[in-house]
Amino acid sequence: MINEIKSNSYSVFFDKQLKALEDFLSNNDYSKIFILTDRNTTEYCLPVLTKTLPDLADYDLIEIDPGEENKNIDFCIGIWKMLLDFGADRKSLMINLGGGVVTDIGGFAASTFKRGIDFIQLPTTLLSQVDASVGGKTGIDMDGVKNIIGTFTQPKAVFINSAFLATLADKQVVSGFAEMVKHGLIYDKDYFEKLKSVDLEQISDSFIVRSVEIKNDVVTKDPTEKGLRKILNFGHTIGHAIESYSLSHDSFPLLHGEAIAIGMISEAYLSHRVKGFTLEELNETTAYILRLFPKYTFSESIYDKLFSYMLNDKKNTNGNIGFALLEQIGVCTFDIYVQKELIFEALDYYRTLN
Ligand code: NAD
Repeated sequence: MINEIKSNSYSVFFDKQLKALEDFLSNNDYSKIFILTDRNTTEYCLPVLTKTLPDLADYDLIEIDPGEENKNIDFCIGIWKMLLDFGADRKSLMINLGGGVVTDIGGFAASTFKRGIDFIQLPTTLLSQVDASVGGKTGIDMDGVKNIIGTFTQPKAVFINSAFLATLADKQVVSGFAEMVKHGLIYDKDYFEKLKSVDLEQISDSFIVRSVEIKNDVVTKDPTEKGLRKILNFGHTIGHAIESYSLSHDSFPLLHGEAIAIGMISEAYLSHRVKGFTLEELNETTAYILRLFPKYTFSESIYDKLFSYMLNDKKNTNGNIGFALLEQIGVCTFDIYVQKELIFEALDYYRTLN
């Protein structure tokens, strides 16, 4: 059965047979089809796609190296050049088959090539299924700053097939889970409680659907992040700074969700200090996230570096660092400006947890 969630201009389909994708392709007369993958999704996901849709024989493959460190302008130029060399025109379609790195950079490359060609998202990680592929944020990193270049461009459709997750490493599944926890914390207390009551292996399609519903609900009301959409950034102001730091300093950098987990704990602390998030809720949230994500060790000596990353955050105004913070579990507010000293206190809180 195909489940469909409608957004302003496109639909998200949940479909293990990819029948909805087949219909989409036959209903649209594209001049050329490009499939963007990374090396892993070429190996694990492309065969699933081509086996399920044998008619999809005539496409050009563009492959990038996997990993966040490659979500940059160099790989983007590589994609644009391949599109040019293979004769892409404005009636061409790009299919982004991969995790959040592929859906972000692919969406960006497509949304800017010849002032924009159509693209669709086929997310293959838990994180990209529940979050990155939905909502139309495309982008790349620059100088270690996450997603600093990008566009708001909606895909023509998103097709979610949880069968792709069978080959995903456990660590990547946990990383994706962080964004699901965020959805519960910012929007739906019952969902948060449900997530808390299951083991990771029990994450079924219904959980993925609920996360997409929440994200879609928010972005449909505010597609270009003028207001409400900012709540989706809970955990991401400090989380992105930690992620940027880890990318440039660690031999095995934190995954996106791992960094966001640290951000969520630190920003839950800020929520407690400035938005009335109770101590009980803070302890509950912290204990749960620490159960899922091992503690990351860093010292006070990196606080200034982290702060400089935060100053580049897109949610800031006039040099003030803007946060999305929790009033209670399931209720989030945004545009809360917090002083440096308090941000450092939140980092202290995380560092001194057992
Ligand atoms: P990712 O794309 O790097 O994928 C993680 C790893 O899994 C990669 O090595 C990839 O090759 C591999 N992989 C992908 N699918 C696989 C499969 N089915 N089987 C085996 N291996 C597979 O990372 P991610 O966690 O999916 O996404 C993180 C990115 O998403 C970050 O860049 C983050 O900024 C972005 N993001 C964007 C949004 C948005 O709204 N645009 C939201 C959240 C996160």
